[in-house]
Amino acid sequence: MRLRNKPWAKDKIAAYPHYVIPDPEARRGRWRELFGNERPIHIEIGTGKGKFITEMAKLHPDINFIGIELYPSVLVSALDKLIESELPNVRLLNANAKDVGAFFADGEVSRIYLNFSDPWPKKRHEKRRLTYRDFLALYERILTEDGDIHLKTDNQSFFEYSLVSLSQYGFVLAAVQLDLHRSGVEGNVMTEYEEKFSAKGNRIYRCEAVRPR
Ligand code: SAM
Repeated sequence: MRLRNKPWAKDKIAAYPHYVIPDPEARRGRWRELFGNERPIHIEIGTGKGKFITEMAKLHPDINFIGIELYPSVLVSALDKLIESELPNVRLLNANAKDVGAFFADGEVSRIYLNFSDPWPKKRHEKRRLTYRDFLALYERILTEDGDIHLKTDNQSFFEYSLVSLSQYGFVLAAVQLDLHRSGVEGNVMTEYEEKFSAKGNRIYRCEAVRPR
C-alpha cells in the first residue's frame, strides 16, 4: 500500500468517534450494545480504503461489520465512505491486528475477513504475516465455535503459506478457489486491491477456513 502523507488524517478520525471507535478495549464483550442488536459480528483485518466492508454492509444489513486498519492516512478513505453512506452496521478501528484479543471477547466474532494481506515474503518476516500461527491463535479465541476466516489474495506464495499454516493449526478448509473469478462463486464483492490486480490479469486465490473444534 503506497502511503500518502495526510497529516490531518488523525484529526479527522478523532472528529468521528461514532464511526471510528476511539476506545475499542472498552467495548470488549459489549459490541452488540454499541450496534444495538444481537446480530453476528464480522471483522475485516487490514480494511484499507473500505470498499469491501462498505459494499458488504449494504448487501448484508443483518450483519455488523468492523474494519480494522493500521494507518490513519488509509483509514480516512474508509471513513469518507461511511460518512457518505451513513451505514448503521459498520464501525472502524484505527488499530493493529495484533491487539484484536484486547478488542473482542472470546467467541464474540463470527467471521474474519483477510483481504489481500501484506505477504511479507522474506522468511525473517514470517511472524508479521496475518496467517502466522500466533495470529491464528488470536483468531481462534475471538471466533465463535463455528466461526470462520475468509481469505483472498493474488499472491500465490502467501496463499500456499496460509493454507499450510491454517491446516497445521487445526482450522478446517471448507472451500478453496485457485482462480476465484473463473470459479463460478457468486456474490463476490471485490476489494480495491482485487480490482487493481485482477485488471492486470492476476489470478485471485480464495479460501474459507473453519475454526478448530
Ligand atoms: N484489504 C484491502 C484491499 O484488499 O484492497 C487493502 C489491502 S493492503 C495490501 C493491506 C492493508 O492491511 C493495508 O491497508 C495495511 O495498512 C493493512 N495492515 C497491514 N498490517 C496490518 C495490521 N497488523 N493491522 C491492521 N492493518 C494492517
